[in-house]
Amino acid sequence: MKKKTIALIAHDNKKHSIVQWALANQEILAQFDLCGTGTTAKLISDATGLKVKRYLSGPMGGDQQIGAKIAEKKIDVVVFFWDPLESQPHDPDVKALLRIAVVYDIPIATNKATADYVMQSKLL
Ligand code: PGA
Repeated sequence: MKKKTIALIAHDNKKHSIVQWALANQEILAQFDLCGTGTTAKLISDATGLKVKRYLSGPMGGDQQIGAKIAEKKIDVVVFFWDPLESQPHDPDVKALLRIAVVYDIPIATNKATADYVMQSKLL
């Protein structure tokens, strides 16, 4: 069976959290193809040693690139630690990404608790 692809994204105030989460879930993540927005992908790759394909940084179009891959059915799961306490210059892109994940019925974990549940799911 083809390996599933997980996309990883975190806003700046959540980058530390997603790196800690990725370290804690490193063994599971190693079984998947990984990709992410520019800075998030680099930080996770540096911390874990896992290969993470880098798209553009979120504010420069990375969210849209990941959204396009969802529409092409090339991304199976999204872990997106967005920041609920700060407005983002690319808020329309964030909304579009959340929307397209729902359109294609892709699991999209937007906080650590949900991401933990998804990683433990037998559906993975
Ligand atoms: P980044 O993008 O990983 O390049 O910082 C994430 C975002 O802000 O959407």
